[in-house]
Amino acid sequence: MAAVIAHEIKNPLTAVRGAIQVIGGRLSAGSRDAPVVKEIVARLDALNDLIKELLLFARTPQPRFGSVSLEGLMQMTLDLLAKDPAFASVHLSVSGDAPLVKGDAELLKIVFQNLFINAAQATQEHGEIRVMIVPGTTTHEVRVVDNGPGIPADVREKLFRPFFTTKARGTGLGLSTARRLLEAHGGSIAVEPGEHGGTAVTVTLPAS
Ligand code: ADP
Ligand code: MG
Repeated sequence: MAAVIAHEIKNPLTAVRGAIQVIGGRLSAGSRDAPVVKEIVARLDALNDLIKELLLFARTPQPRFGSVSLEGLMQMTLDLLAKDPAFASVHLSVSGDAPLVKGDAELLKIVFQNLFINAAQATQEHGEIRVMIVPGTTTHEVRVVDNGPGIPADVREKLFRPFFTTKARGTGLGLSTARRLLEAHGGSIAVEPGEHGGTAVTVTLPAS
């Protein structure tokens, strides 16, 4: 039902956004209404993002498996996030080997996008995110370690609950969706305190 409703909302939302942009385009330069139109479009975009997340969460994931290079996947994900304001003051490094995993690159990109955004949002000034690719035999791991405040014990047990969030504008769907997508790959995800504070998220995926 969530998937159907979300889908039904998406189309009119796109139409409303288009219409409001037409009106915005007719305003004279320096019009006092221009910031209002801009705000409406920004709110519609946020709503659209929420609907997209809801659709992803509500649908049973059906990965189309291929051989995916973890290094290439990290690079593609980082390219997607380059313009995200959450990453403006964050330093992110990727290290390790470049093994192949069995997976759907599009779905895995969403998983790592969610993890990187969480890490960036947790770290304030001087954010540091280290991504380590650790090859194994039958499985490979990716560790995402940040220097944020870490996760309190009472929050830790609720992390994967759909709609659980500690953020003013969070959806609480990031980690639950990540886990669903990884499980559809025969993989897993674990969240632990980092060795030197912060948070360490470990993703395990089957080798290709
Ligand atoms: P959202 O990001 O929308 O809040 P998520 O499912 O992605 O939803 O995350 C749920 C909660 O887990 C966050 O609200 C936050 O409290 C916590 N969390 C996730 N990743 C981290 C992290 N790297 N550091 C600290 N807290 C985190
Ligand atoms: Mg999130």
